[in-house]
Amino acid sequence: MSESYQLYGRLLTYLRGKIGMFSLSLIGFALFAASQPALAKLMELVIESIENKDSDARLFLPTIAVGIFIMRGVGYFIGNYYNEYVGASIIRQIKLQLFNHLTTVPAAYFDANKQGNILHSLHNSVSLLQVLVTTAFKTLVREGLTIIALVGYVFYLNWKLSLVFLCIAPVLAYMVAATNQTFRSISRKNEGALGKALQVSKELISNHGVVRTFGSQDYESARYESAVNRAFKTQLKIRKVASIFTPLTQVVIAMAMAFIIYLLLSPETLAKSTTGELVGYLTAVALLPKSIRSLSGISVTIQRGLVGAEVVFKLVDVEPEPDLGEHEADVVKGKLEVKNLRFTYPNSETEVLKNISFTVQPGEMIALVGKSGSGKSTLANLLFRLYEIDDDSIFLDDVDINRYKLANLRGHMSAVNQNISLFDDTIRNNIAYGKKEYSDEQIYRALECANALEFVAALPKGLDTAIGENGLKLSGGQRQRISIARAFLKDSPVLILDEATSALDNESEALVTSSLDQLANAKTTLVIAHRLSTIIKADRLLVMRDGEIVETGSHAELVKKNRFYASLYQTEYQNREKSVD
Ligand code: ADP
Repeated sequence: MSESYQLYGRLLTYLRGKIGMFSLSLIGFALFAASQPALAKLMELVIESIENKDSDARLFLPTIAVGIFIMRGVGYFIGNYYNEYVGASIIRQIKLQLFNHLTTVPAAYFDANKQGNILHSLHNSVSLLQVLVTTAFKTLVREGLTIIALVGYVFYLNWKLSLVFLCIAPVLAYMVAATNQTFRSISRKNEGALGKALQVSKELISNHGVVRTFGSQDYESARYESAVNRAFKTQLKIRKVASIFTPLTQVVIAMAMAFIIYLLLSPETLAKSTTGELVGYLTAVALLPKSIRSLSGISVTIQRGLVGAEVVFKLVDVEPEPDLGEHEADVVKGKLEVKNLRFTYPNSETEVLKNISFTVQPGEMIALVGKSGSGKSTLANLLFRLYEIDDDSIFLDDVDINRYKLANLRGHMSAVNQNISLFDDTIRNNIAYGKKEYSDEQIYRALECANALEFVAALPKGLDTAIGENGLKLSGGQRQRISIARAFLKDSPVLILDEATSALDNESEALVTSSLDQLANAKTTLVIAHRLSTIIKADRLLVMRDGEIVETGSHAELVKKNRFYASLYQTEYQNREKSVD
């Protein structure tokens, strides 16, 4: 229970700045709620007028009746509208907060969580929360206030008789608490199953080619079916409990009402009250079950919404990337120094970098070579501080990179990766990526340097051509050159290149290589090298094996040494060059 209160408390903090609107909605629903006892009072007056044969009330009572309904209507509008307004504003705020937060969470978060689950939190869990803070919350306030007004009124009319309600309150409270627990735990399972289903469908979409070529449609369908079946079963369980719960509360209320009627018809009560009073009282009591039913009907929605809130807040609570450094440099020369760097991924036990030390002077080009899995990409990623590292492990211009402000540090470096990340946007926006200050001239120059001007200029819409999801409408070589143009535009003194292993056609390869050469010119460059031509060009090679640097030197020196690199050269690069030839 305290867990729920914490969630409610946290949701209430989102009311900050919306108290005015929220108060308006409360006023509206208070008017709506007050109309119910007013109707009961009206019934009492009508009966009394009939009994007293009082024709004077002919005009007065119908006017009051219309007045009550107008008040009820106005209250309904104000209550609903402003409640929706507040709910929708809260959801907008939470969506923005979640998305913005996701831009700051560390890379380790994405390693530890499946994309399907993250997407599920962003969309489905927010939708559950949306239903909670709009529909359910509205019903809760409206029907809650109505019950308070009606119960207050019946206590005012005859408090002794109304004590029956106090007796059933704990029974109802117990039933609500017991079913809520069940709703919550099944809803969590339901959310898990839906997240899994989303993950499988996401994988099918992004790997549709592999699924077809490997003929694994049945396997994928079975995976999806198992997740959907689990969602189906949990969903049914929720419905079953809910469908038992609502009539059960009705029976409890009916028993209470039956008992009230029994007491009402006792000779003492009948003797003491007028017919009008009795009918008025009964009318108020008879209005109660509808509101109680509405309230009990939304308890599933509330519990599911709270599960949505749990998921959403879990993401909001992920600590952002630490950014405690204060150091900011306008320009750097680009000296990189790595000292006794050790690194273990947060989600693993194995040390993937062991005691790495080397220095790269400004303008030098260093090639990282080694078998796949030896730690080259990890090392490159750590230069950007994508993961947390110990102090005094990596220095840029003799300043520990942990002391830099993150944005400033990353501003001095560019990366061109083999997994090119392009966005479903225009060529201009993909190159200027996120920065508006670049002029078209600058973008054209970057394209020219990246050997991409010719093909972009040939496109009917030029820079404004939309390139599709991840640049689907461009060839492999073109995509690579666009990502190189992005790095040209950034023009940072340190460059990290992860050479593509996938083969490009000869012409594209020549264009990409020449543009990379230009890009690396006079920059401190660390290249994860897969091509012999790059390796030969590099000032120095760092040969990595199982997270360690086992040899350093130029290509010629290391071949002569005839140790680790020499065998790597024979097995990897020589053969590759031959196959390219
Ligand atoms: P390389 O670039 O030389 O192929 P990597 O740096 O990618 O090598 O990988 C080095 C080691 O780190 C491998 O054993 C790999 O399994 C592990 N590794 C890479 N990325 C992660 C990650 N995000 N979480 C856990 N382990 C990882």
